[in-house]
Amino acid sequence: MNMTVRTRLTAWYFLVLIVSFALFGWVVDLGFQHSVARTMDDALQGNLTTAQRVISESSPKGNEKVSHELGELADIWRDEAILRVTDESGHWIFQSPAFASAKIDSAEASRSISYTTNLNAIQYRISGRKALINGKVFDVTVATPPEAFDQSLDQFRLTLKLASPLLIVLASLGGYWLSRRALEPVDEIIQTARGIGGQNLSSRLPVPLPRDELRRLTATLNEMLGRIESNMRRVTQFTADASHELRTPLALLRTTAEVALRRPRREEDYREVLESIVAASGEMTLLLEDLLQMARADAGAETLKFCRVDLIGCLRRVQEQGAILAETKEIHVAGDFEEESVWIDADAAAIERVFLIFIDNAVKYTHPGGRISLRYKKADDTALVEIRDSGIGVSDKDLPHIFERFYRADPARSREQGGVGLGLSIANWIVEKHGGVIRVESGPGMGSVFQVHLPFALKIPASQPLM
Ligand code: ADP
Repeated sequence: MNMTVRTRLTAWYFLVLIVSFALFGWVVDLGFQHSVARTMDDALQGNLTTAQRVISESSPKGNEKVSHELGELADIWRDEAILRVTDESGHWIFQSPAFASAKIDSAEASRSISYTTNLNAIQYRISGRKALINGKVFDVTVATPPEAFDQSLDQFRLTLKLASPLLIVLASLGGYWLSRRALEPVDEIIQTARGIGGQNLSSRLPVPLPRDELRRLTATLNEMLGRIESNMRRVTQFTADASHELRTPLALLRTTAEVALRRPRREEDYREVLESIVAASGEMTLLLEDLLQMARADAGAETLKFCRVDLIGCLRRVQEQGAILAETKEIHVAGDFEEESVWIDADAAAIERVFLIFIDNAVKYTHPGGRISLRYKKADDTALVEIRDSGIGVSDKDLPHIFERFYRADPARSREQGGVGLGLSIANWIVEKHGGVIRVESGPGMGSVFQVHLPFALKIPASQPLM
């Protein structure tokens, strides 16, 4: 069923009110009845005491006198109460006419505290007492009609029946109005949310002033919008940067081919052109692979296969490859590992790639004849790998940004070296996935130190494949 929160709240409110009013009416009715019975019983006890006093005052003058005095008392009470007094042998001394034809057991009346019965088709509340007066026993019974009380009870019930529906309807309308007021900001939020799309992702929902659930909800939605916006920005930026990076080598390919096609050439010239095309497309393939890895990582699709890996073995392989890279620039790549083997849980290929990125950068940004060192040492409870170079270093201005995608401190120099500014962001992503951190210290002309902290493997189960 399609019901607004407002209608649902009001419906519930209405139901709760009906139940509450019914319960209230029932409890008050019971209380009313109880209090009527108590009032009547108190009055009956008062009547009995009065009759007893009259008997006590008149009995010394004989039963005739008692009967006369009681008759006068019955006259005074008239509609309020009726009376019967019998002697020990059960003969009545005085009785009001209503008692004459009714069968009332005096013994019963005097035993029970009070009870209600019909006397000649009229309801009476009856109470009795056996009294020893001046040496004689008298059974005194008085009765009073509850009619007056019943009338007020009926009146009360009628008022309740008439007023309750009216009050319930009024209170429900009030409830509807209140829930409408309370939910008004929701309409405003819906209106604004409808207007937010890809074009204006920087818009935010209006945050209601009161510190309530709606304020928390809108604040949370705004935070979510903020995250979506920054992700969208990153995607747009990534697409723009990627296209930009691909445009230059593509243009180069095209120009090289077009220039070669302008006129007939010798076979060696064609070979030269084709070779440069192969080299450029090789670089583009590498760039595309990096881009693909970043895109997969963003989508959460890039999965690393973790197993037990010997970090030192991995560093030795990287050192060898680094030495080959550095050969043409006559840079020495030193290795210094304080252990024979150190075990970490890692994706071997990915972690090797991280160190190769650092070594590759060190080679790219170090002058010929410089020095690069690759060190392993234990630092507190992490495995620390340090890549140090004597290269050009990074300025304080660039240092906070070098892990950002496509960031290059000196784009011209970097491009010249074949870099597009993706290496460090890929390395950072891989290290994060391994539960590690990267720290860097560098300054212009001072060289750079990149430190990679990785957690040790917890223990080495025999069944684990070792790399
Ligand atoms: P690139 O492909 O341009 O090398 P990276 O993400 O690997 O991209 O590095 C980002 C930038 O950080 C580089 O352009 C360079 O300016 C700086 N950089 C990285 N490593 C070093 C280093 N060892 N020495 C000096 N600068 C470095």
